[in-house]
Amino acid sequence: RMTRLRARLARSGTLGRSLLSILSRGSLTEADWEEIEETLLLADIGIGPTTELMDRLRTQVRVLGTDDPQAVRDVLRAELLALVDPGMDRSLRVSPGVGDDGEPHPATVLVVGVNGTGKTTTVGKLARVLVAEDREVLLGAADTFRAAAADQLQTWGERVGVPVVRSDREGADPAAVAFDAVKAGREAGVDVVVVDTAGRLQNKTDLMNELGKIKRIMSRQAPVSEVLLVLDATTGQNGLRQAQVFADVVDVTGIVLTKLDGTAKGGIVVAVQRELGVPVKLIGLGEGPDDLAPFDAAEFVDAILE
Ligand code: GDP
Repeated sequence: RMTRLRARLARSGTLGRSLLSILSRGSLTEADWEEIEETLLLADIGIGPTTELMDRLRTQVRVLGTDDPQAVRDVLRAELLALVDPGMDRSLRVSPGVGDDGEPHPATVLVVGVNGTGKTTTVGKLARVLVAEDREVLLGAADTFRAAAADQLQTWGERVGVPVVRSDREGADPAAVAFDAVKAGREAGVDVVVVDTAGRLQNKTDLMNELGKIKRIMSRQAPVSEVLLVLDATTGQNGLRQAQVFADVVDVTGIVLTKLDGTAKGGIVVAVQRELGVPVKLIGLGEGPDDLAPFDAAEFVDAILE
C-alpha cells in the first residue's frame, strides 16, 4: 500500500520533494525562504501552520546548516509529521453495539459532504474495506434528491457484494430512507450500516435541518457511530470553507480526503485538521474499489518526501 501511495502522490509532484530541493541549496537566502513559504502556501497547508513551520525550519537550519542532506531531510520529516499530528485517534468506530434494551445493533456511519466530492464513491469503497475485514455491511441511499445517486450506490453495492436500501421515489424523505436502512441492517444482524446523503449547500439552515433530522431518526434504531465528512483535496481553500459549514451543522468525527491522487496539494491534510479539529481518517487515491486507504501520518509524510 505504501508503494501505491508513493506512486500516486509522486505522479502529481510532491510538496516534500520541492522543499527538500530548496533546503539542500546550501546557504539559504531570503529569496529561498520566500520560495519555501510559497511552496507551503501553494500546497494548501494554510497560513498559520506555514508560519509555524517556517519559524521552526529557520531555527533548525541555522543550528544545523544545510551541508548534510540527510540531517535536513530528518528535520523536515519530523516537522511535517508534527504538523500532521500523529497522535490523533484515526480508528473508525465500526463495531456493533448493544442498546439499552439489551438488543444488539449495528454500527452506523453517516457520510456527508458537498456533491461531487466523492461521497458515493467513498461509501462504495468503504464497504469494500469493511467487507475485507470480514464485517457484514449494508448501505443506505439517503441521497434521494437525484435518482441517479441511488442507482450509483446500487451499482457499488453489486460491485462489492453488499445490499443497498433505497427508495424508489425520487425526492423521498432522506431521513426515512436512513431509518429504513438501519432498521433493515438491525433486523439482518449486520455489523455496519453506511448511509450516503445529499450535499446541497445552497442553504445552511436547510442543510442543518436535513442532516440533523437524518441523524435523529437514525438514532431511533441505533446510535450514529461515525459522521464522516468527505472533502475533495483538489478544491483547496474553497473546499475547506464548505467543510466548515458541514462541521458547523453536524458533529463530524472524521474526514475522508478524496482525490489525493490528482493533486500536489497534500497540505490540505494539515489545514483541514487544524481548521475543524477532526482527524483525517481515510484517503481516496483513485476511482476504483480498492482506492481507499486508512490515513497514516508517518506513511503520508514519507510519501510526500519521496
Ligand atoms: P458525490 O456527488 O459526492 O457522491 O461524488 P461521487 O462519488 O459521484 O464522485 C464524483 C467523481 O469523483 C466521480 O467521477 C468519482 O469517480 C470521482 N472520485 C471519487 N473519489 C475519487 C478519488 O479518490 N480519486 C479520484 N481520482 N477520483 C475520485
